[in-house]
Amino acid sequence: MSDSTPTPADPATLESIRALVRALCRDFPVEYWRALDRDKAYPTAFVAAMTKAGLLGVLIPEEYGGGGLGLTAAAAILEEVHASGGNAAAAHAQMYTMGTVLRHGSDAQKARWLPQIASGAIRLQAFAVTEPTAGSDTTAITTFARRDGDRYLVNGQKVWTSRAEHSDLMLLLARTAPRDEARKSDGLSVFLIDIRQAAGRGLTLKPLRAMLNHATTEVFFDDLEIPADCLIGEEGQGFRYILDGMNAERILIGAECLGDAAWLIGKARDYACERRVFDRPIGQNQGVQFPIARAYAQTHAARLAVYDAAARYDAGLTCGEQANISKLLASEASWAAADTCLQTHGGFGFAEEYDVERKFRETRLYQVAPISTNLILAYVGEHVLKMPRSY
Ligand SMILES: Cc1cc2nc3c(=O)[nH]c(=O)nc-3n(C[C@H](O)[C@H](O)[C@H](O)COP(=O)(O)OP(=O)(O)OC[C@H]3O[C@@H](n4cnc5c(N)ncnc54)[C@H](O)[C@@H]3O)c2cc1C
Repeated sequence: MSDSTPTPADPATLESIRALVRALCRDFPVEYWRALDRDKAYPTAFVAAMTKAGLLGVLIPEEYGGGGLGLTAAAAILEEVHASGGNAAAAHAQMYTMGTVLRHGSDAQKARWLPQIASGAIRLQAFAVTEPTAGSDTTAITTFARRDGDRYLVNGQKVWTSRAEHSDLMLLLARTAPRDEARKSDGLSVFLIDIRQAAGRGLTLKPLRAMLNHATTEVFFDDLEIPADCLIGEEGQGFRYILDGMNAERILIGAECLGDAAWLIGKARDYACERRVFDRPIGQNQGVQFPIARAYAQTHAARLAVYDAAARYDAGLTCGEQANISKLLASEASWAAADTCLQTHGGFGFAEEYDVERKFRETRLYQVAPISTNLILAYVGEHVLKMPRSY
């Protein structure tokens, strides 16, 4: 068995993992998340509990101290966190960012980092791709790493690099050769940077406050010196390495959307049944009931798509179409659920103490990040339906 082949989790194992996550999340009720949201604080205790339970290392092969499970199990974990009213975005990168090291790193890099990531001794939570001027056009990034003997000198800027302040390592996508218009995706390379050594020596993190509680930063590289052995795989091949991690990310984000949708639908249903206006529960009105039922149906379909994509991924089958479509459907289902839940609550939906407005803000993100809906539709149009490239 290759070191990246996961063990498919059987239904009983999956159910016991789900039960474990549900039990863990009971220690982190909505009041916990609400207080963090108000203070824009990082869920340190939650991330520590997830790490201690081994839940963030499930995708790491057993030979490196991880759970050796596949994406279906990882998706179930993230779905349960979100279904509890929590938010795994503070921790999820610890699960899958290591995939680039696992699939493309040298034996020495894997032996050095993966066991420590699996145990949680080292946090690999930061993944720096997006730049302010390039946006969705990733090959237009300009952060440059110039080889100089046994080191690289890095200059440039990233934006929206999440969790960097709570991470020991950062996976960086940078140019190592100028963009060639004929082969735009060539000349990009991936580096694994030790933030603890780099901070203050050419690497500066600047927190970026956002609409939701999501520890994210701008990152500035100013003649940052990194050892040449930070390079993952071959110089110039980084775009391909990043791309093959993106299917996993999309499926897992889809699973988080499913959890959000389940929580929001449950909350809307309960409120619709309890709240009485005009001497009847508001949920007795079809105008209130049907949007909740519709969001439920959308979520049901999205769940089939997400776990179909995860199963294909785990079986080593191509899954670009399925990963993209599942993220699209799941993010639309969770957004429909959020909008419906807010509307069902009327004015109280805007009150902090109901947690609806928090989840509304949190789940809206998935229409934009890690890839925006339009770019997924462009993928489906071009690569699945074979229509002309639209950008
Ligand atoms: C809270 C948060 C956390 C994030 N975390 C990370 C992270 O950890 N690491 C990281 O690297 N990035 C991260 N991102 C960045 C995220 O991946 C990008 O915001 C996202 O990919 C969209 O890129 P952009 O913001 O530059 O939008 P733009 O590319 O400027 O696009 C703006 C809008 O135009 C649309 N658009 C652009 N081009 C086209 C086209 N050709 N056809 C149709 N529509 C188009 C887009 O769909 C979008 O709606 C994060 C973003 C947020 C908000």
